[in-house]
Amino acid sequence: MITVLLIEDNPGDAVLVNEYLKESTSFEYKLIHTTRNAEAAKILGEVPSIDVIISDIALPDSKGVESIKQLQEFTDTLPVIFFTGTHDEELAMSALQEGAQDYLIKGQFDGEALRRAIRYAIERKKYQNEAEHATMKARKLQHETELLQEERTHLKQLNQAKDDFLSLASHQLRTPATGVKQYLGMVLEGFFGDIPDKQRHSLQQAFDSNERQLKIVEDLLRTAHIDAGRTKIEKVDTDIVELLGSIIDEQKNHFAKRKQIVEFNTKTKPYKISVDADKLRMALENIIDNASKYTPDGKKITVTLTHNKKTVTIDIADQGVGIGEEDISKIFDKFARVNNPLSHEVGGSGLGLFWAKSIIDLHNGSIAVKSEVNKGTTFSITLPA
Ligand code: ADP
Repeated sequence: MITVLLIEDNPGDAVLVNEYLKESTSFEYKLIHTTRNAEAAKILGEVPSIDVIISDIALPDSKGVESIKQLQEFTDTLPVIFFTGTHDEELAMSALQEGAQDYLIKGQFDGEALRRAIRYAIERKKYQNEAEHATMKARKLQHETELLQEERTHLKQLNQAKDDFLSLASHQLRTPATGVKQYLGMVLEGFFGDIPDKQRHSLQQAFDSNERQLKIVEDLLRTAHIDAGRTKIEKVDTDIVELLGSIIDEQKNHFAKRKQIVEFNTKTKPYKISVDADKLRMALENIIDNASKYTPDGKKITVTLTHNKKTVTIDIADQGVGIGEEDISKIFDKFARVNNPLSHEVGGSGLGLFWAKSIIDLHNGSIAVKSEVNKGTTFSITLPA
């Protein structure tokens, strides 16, 4: 069923249209007739099922381009066909330019031509509507893309500002903390004379606190470096057995203070792989230090080195507080500190594992973790052999 709204003040023409529509055998037509544009507006508001508007180009209350403009105010999605007199063709052309779909010259069309014009106008308007819709969508997308780009630039600037701040602040913090370390170290070593026993303990505590602060500052600096993409890996052939052995050796006093036992298992000696020895050392130190930090006094830490033709694997296993399943995925994130019974006591920046993983990634290696709360944690680092 095609519903036609006819705006025609000539009764004879209206009767003719009605006749032409009735004689259709392929479609059923319903005709709603009015003589004025103002009345047509009312009908359009009340009857949502109208498919097409046919309007005389010269009505008592509007004419030509004005007519189409008025109709477009009521509806801009319906097709419009104009009836024109033989002398109104210029007017009809401007109506077409304004958005009408077609025009028919009175007295020069039959029923077939009228019905074909109606169907074509409906189809044409449908495609026009779809094309407009697509254009609007494309414009919206373009606008959204521009907004996203602006946001990206803004985020990049913020990120850059953060990197600069981190870098600057940690540089500025490192210098005085290094000074404190030097002078306190000299005092503790008796460089300025014997220290009374009463003072030694407090001085040692000051030294240890400063060390912790320096470690945090170092973590911040290294993270800023990684973020800025300035960390480069310089590989040299390195005996990984010796490297691990010396890390454990250096931390021996530290383990001893906590009565922790460290076991180093390896069947290989020596075993060379190509790595950035300094950076890998710092990454491994961090993971081994964590194993000690998050393990109660008196427990065991086991470092195991295995290899095959393609890879070297270092397992660092502790008998510590463990990490809950829900937190495992967070621990490699920047500033991730997971609460556990020891985390307040031992302190930290939450940057160590982030940095260590970044270094291992830069070696095309991987790091995995398995943990059970109150039983212990094992970090497995795999590097290309
Ligand atoms: P932090 O400076 O806090 O130690 P890390 O990045 O080194 O930062 O570690 C992130 C978090 O992962 C720690 O706060 C801790 O909760 C958890 N974690 C790391 N290693 C262990 C471990 N061996 N046992 C239990 N928890 C650990």
